[in-house]
Amino acid sequence: MEIKKEATAQTSGAPTQAQLERINTMAKGTLTAEQVYVFSLRLCDDQVDRDYERFDSAALPELARMFVGKTGIVDHKWVSQGQVARIFDTQVVRDANCSFLKAWAYIRRGGEADQIIADIEAGIKKEVSIGCAMGKQVCSICGGEYGTCGHQKGQIYDGQTCYAILQDPLDAYEFSFVAVPAQREAGVLKGMRREPCLKELAEQFGAQAELRQLQEQARLGQAYAKELENHVVRLCLSLELGMPEPALRAAAQKLGSQDLLALKKALEQRWDKQFPGKPQLPTGQKSQKELDSGFLI
Ligand SMILES: [Zn+2]
Repeated sequence: MEIKKEATAQTSGAPTQAQLERINTMAKGTLTAEQVYVFSLRLCDDQVDRDYERFDSAALPELARMFVGKTGIVDHKWVSQGQVARIFDTQVVRDANCSFLKAWAYIRRGGEADQIIADIEAGIKKEVSIGCAMGKQVCSICGGEYGTCGHQKGQIYDGQTCYAILQDPLDAYEFSFVAVPAQREAGVLKGMRREPCLKELAEQFGAQAELRQLQEQARLGQAYAKELENHVVRLCLSLELGMPEPALRAAAQKLGSQDLLALKKALEQRWDKQFPGKPQLPTGQKSQKELDSGFLI
């Protein structure tokens, strides 16, 4: 699957001799230290992020290898001039709390690039978007393949928050500098959480109405999912399958919506076969009263 993450550019300056040699193995001409601006990037780490995902620590060395030589773009104008930043070296850095992937990139000085360099130096172009393809997502709760096991990222199971562990790097893509609004670059904000939440983004880009609509749809979707769960549980109880309601409910909650719909269909068929002509869920049945919603779908 395609993975998009935020990264951070850290300011630097002129290359060391060793860096210049590496750069010149990639550059077409022979560049001098004066012609090159070098900066470092924190591409990703192995900590759980806002998307409830984390890169497997074991995947970082391979990702490090894949990002070498990848270019970075600022905007389309810049691309048309053929000027790009390029990653010439990467390293997996281990500190007390985590392992992270550090990259060094260079930009050829001169013309438009000088403005980009000034922006990086000023911290205006600090945030970077990176992309890569990962072959496998593993569920942190059960160790199964995420998406097939029924656990949901961000949900809590017996006190443990579910997240996906990204494994098996397949490819790394170009990176791009993200335009940061001037306000967020105010010095006082330095060191604060640099990733905005959806609500902040919506406010920033005037998409509040769209966000509200999505939230409304999400509420409807959640209500429908709850009704579907109730319906399936009630069918199981009515068919007297011999499982208590809490167990049935826990099982239903673990199923994805497609599986739940399939189960509902199978149960309905069973009901029709067992009680031909009888409405599926007669009112007044004890099991039904025990349920927290009387709504039928
Ligand atoms: Zn799982």
